[in-house]
Amino acid sequence: MSEEPSDFIRQRILKDIEDEVITGGVVTRFPPEPNGYLHIGHAKSICLNFGVAEEFGGATFLRFDDTNPLQESDEYVAAIQRDVAWLGFDWGDRLTHASDYFEQLYQFAVQLIEKDKAYVCGLSGDEIRKSRGTLTAPGTNSPDRDRPVAESLQLFERMRNGDFADGAHVLRAKIDMASPNMHMRDPVLYRIRHASHQRTGDSWVIYPMYDYTHCICDALEGVTHSLCTLEFQDHRPLYDWVLDNININFHPPQIEFSRLGLEYTVMSKRLLRQLVENGVVEGWDDPRMPTLAGLRRRGVTPSAIREFCRRIGVTKQDNLVELNLFEFCIRQDLEGTVKRGMGVLDPLKVTITNHSSVPETLSAPWHPQREALGSREIPFGAELFIEREDFAEVPPKKYKRLSPGEMVRLRYAYIIRCDEVIKDATGEIVELRCTYFPDSRSGSDTSGLKPKGVVHWVSACAALPVRIRLYDRLFSVPNPKDLNRDLNPNSLTERQGFVEPAIVESEDKHFQFERLGYFCKDNVLPGVVNRTVSLRDSWKP
Ligand code: ATP
Ligand code: MG
Repeated sequence: MSEEPSDFIRQRILKDIEDEVITGGVVTRFPPEPNGYLHIGHAKSICLNFGVAEEFGGATFLRFDDTNPLQESDEYVAAIQRDVAWLGFDWGDRLTHASDYFEQLYQFAVQLIEKDKAYVCGLSGDEIRKSRGTLTAPGTNSPDRDRPVAESLQLFERMRNGDFADGAHVLRAKIDMASPNMHMRDPVLYRIRHASHQRTGDSWVIYPMYDYTHCICDALEGVTHSLCTLEFQDHRPLYDWVLDNININFHPPQIEFSRLGLEYTVMSKRLLRQLVENGVVEGWDDPRMPTLAGLRRRGVTPSAIREFCRRIGVTKQDNLVELNLFEFCIRQDLEGTVKRGMGVLDPLKVTITNHSSVPETLSAPWHPQREALGSREIPFGAELFIEREDFAEVPPKKYKRLSPGEMVRLRYAYIIRCDEVIKDATGEIVELRCTYFPDSRSGSDTSGLKPKGVVHWVSACAALPVRIRLYDRLFSVPNPKDLNRDLNPNSLTERQGFVEPAIVESEDKHFQFERLGYFCKDNVLPGVVNRTVSLRDSWKP
């Protein structure tokens, strides 16, 4: 790398390489628990772990932390792989599971018991919690703490063999019940759980705890830098204690960085799962969700997410990132690459009274600056739709759109003048009758007319109906605390709109609809188009 490393983790890795602390290449891992879908917070960790391995010439494991059989499922395992690959990262043949190491983890636990560093404890979960003490008071020793090694060895083997019911015993590390760090007060290493595991089936009825498992898996895989989020800082002494007390000759450093928080959403699989289970959203891939599956469906591109993660950087300061920054990255990514067409969200019929009933075909570029995107044909005829918002019967001052007696240009087509406003019995405007000027055609305008502005439109006979879904933020406050109270009731609105035929016929999924934003054809519901993002910051106060 020619530039200065951009953050403290990259600086640390560079130093380790220069000091020859590591010589065989950088090894990192992304260790999701398969208990839900990945969200944009995970993307930060994925970009970091895979990113540094790419930059420094190394490798990254995708390791499923599957130690909790009750929460986990194959659906999540498959979704996580799909999402990491979609983000653009390749784990090659380094797809592993904590469960791959269950036998080794068990043998290391036997070692700890043999060294009198762990014991089988018969206290219940409640009793263990109560005897842990508090931040200001030390805990009390378990009555089983001085159980002879041979007895613990035998009980641990019987735990494995299924001789005991759930909760009858646990294996605990023998560290210090008076430690100022609560995680060091004889933490539980193994618990009994008579539950089938999605990979190991019924082979195991004892399962190792995260803190015990994680460090050993890191060491077994030769992870050179174990990068995790700040909440694990207090667990680091335990990470180190386990590796210092078993016979293993590799000890990765654990390095913590801050979690990503994003405004107006929640960022925890547990909370996201509640939204799904309570039917607040339509599923894990609902386009309002901060999940990678939801963002994909909404039309957010992997490169926009990677750029967002690059911009927020990696620090030790917890912060809540502005939604505007994320939307900026999405727009910036789509701006130069997607075609621009026309769609109408809220159609108002326009009749061109001097146009023949035979439609004509106009041609227009797909992007005003990018010729490479090509062009398309746009049908034009006597009946059109414009946006209801683009007409005002009584225009405010300096109005740039259509009003009675005034002229506007129809984008890529002709100038029209509104001659008559037709209303229904309730007084609602149902049609505008207009004149068009044949010599004002875009590109060959010889009319000399000065229209008020330019509006988008579609031809009524050729446009195709679509259900257009518009999204607002999922929560109404930047930092939601209550999943019910803080919900934004208007996070989804659906419109019956029309789009020009070339958009529907195109293989492309992403489009800009001129003046309305970036849209993406839904990959689940046919005939539905999702607005990815509007053209401007929608949340400016
Ligand atoms: P969640 O609360 O969403 O379940 P988690 O940390 O329990 O998050 P894991 O599946 O254990 O989820 O996470 C896998 C990795 O992703 C971990 O290394 C974790 O630190 C990281 N990670 C999770 N959430 C974030 C976030 N908001 N920002 C950065 N990294 C995150
Ligand atoms: Mg978790």
